[in-house]
Amino acid sequence: LIVFVARYVLKFGGTSVANVARIEHAADIVSRVAHLKNEVVVVVSAMAGMTNQLVSYAEGLSPGQITPEHDTVISSGEQITAGLMALALQKRGFASRSFLSFQVPIETNDDFTQGRITHICPAALNTCLSQKIIPVVAGFQGITKDGRITTLGRGGSDTTAVAIAAALKADFCDIYTDVEGVYTADPRIVPLARKIDILSYPEMIELAAQGAKVLQARSVEMGMRHNVNLRVLSSFVNVSGTTIVYERKAMEGLSVSGIAHNLNEAKITLDGVKDEVGMAAQIFGALAKERIPVDMILQSFTQDGRSNVTFTINKSDVERIVPMLDALKAQMGFTGAAINRDIVKISVIGVGIRSNLDIASLVFKTLADHNINIQLISTSEIKLSVVIANDQMTKAMCALHNALLLDDKNEETTSDTKESLAKRV
Ligand code: ADP
Ligand code: ASP
Ligand code: MG
Repeated sequence: LIVFVARYVLKFGGTSVANVARIEHAADIVSRVAHLKNEVVVVVSAMAGMTNQLVSYAEGLSPGQITPEHDTVISSGEQITAGLMALALQKRGFASRSFLSFQVPIETNDDFTQGRITHICPAALNTCLSQKIIPVVAGFQGITKDGRITTLGRGGSDTTAVAIAAALKADFCDIYTDVEGVYTADPRIVPLARKIDILSYPEMIELAAQGAKVLQARSVEMGMRHNVNLRVLSSFVNVSGTTIVYERKAMEGLSVSGIAHNLNEAKITLDGVKDEVGMAAQIFGALAKERIPVDMILQSFTQDGRSNVTFTINKSDVERIVPMLDALKAQMGFTGAAINRDIVKISVIGVGIRSNLDIASLVFKTLADHNINIQLISTSEIKLSVVIANDQMTKAMCALHNALLLDDKNEETTSDTKESLAKRV
């Protein structure tokens, strides 16, 4: 008898470790994999809701600030679940121990709240594995060269898991979450969303970058760079999930893989900007200097020979942009600046979207048929994004999902999914 022993990284998200009972259930999943003599490293998120709570504590004391202390606070939820998971595994008869970021260590740069992993030392984890000890690593955290604690951006435990899988050359990196895999749209918004069995890395990168929070975008980029065998699975139901592969054969017909939404952006409109050389350079130069990333940009000319410049930024940067806009206004003499937070960016993603004229016209026609006004549009090789009012999000997404032929035809699975989702909320 030949037994294949594989090396697994198993990551459990917030809902999958929401309380001690869920942690025990997750530990049962770990036991099933570990019992087959596989080598297992576990990565855990904080209990559902905990990181939000911690962010609100820190924000309450220093709104809009990013300091090392912020990360010291918001990284702490993962410490609790790492210890509890190790206890749950010990209860099941396994040797197990927890690791915080500095104990691995997982080194990052000093970009607090958005730390980038620069190095993972695999030695301590490898030693555990060779001694049949299951390491449980606190996700989301890192440590700088100077020994300060960082975090990797919201949803960053995914990136911890993928980075460890890469550093340990794991055979599988399994991301356990509260849905059955990656869907054609967020199943909480589009009830007829379909689970996708196989997705290519470029498609998944774009879905994640455009807001499908089931995987943190950075984790997918890292997985692609390091050849990680990445899967998304449910910790609630034992069904096959989604596998991310390098290339996928093009589907027949329309080449749309999914629709993503992003509620985290705000729209800024500058009115009465002079139509002169160098205006855009001044505006976006000032934003770059403040390290405020800009997503979509639109300039439109008005009757009076001036222009309106509209762009989107992350909502979390709005507080920082306000004083900057006042300074720019004095300097450049534009007439007004408006901030609109009530927007959503909806992106249709698929290989070759730009060259497929039918998809663009179908998207615009569908929104028009539903009386939905488009505020901004942008395209790339594999996506088409529109910004609309956020109170029209559900209507727009369901309509686009249907028009692009993504709807699940199998009513039975759909109602099962809906029911099980409802139970978990
Ligand atoms: P975890 O706590 O396990 O990391 P997240 O909340 O970060 O879980 O991500 C899972 C959630 O992502 C789902 O509950 C779902 O609402 C949302 N989601 C958004 N887009 C998608 C999509 N295309 N497919 C699946 N889930 C999605
Ligand atoms: N707990 C962190 C967050 O909520 C990291 C994660 O869940 O991946 O963003
Ligand atoms: Mg997540």
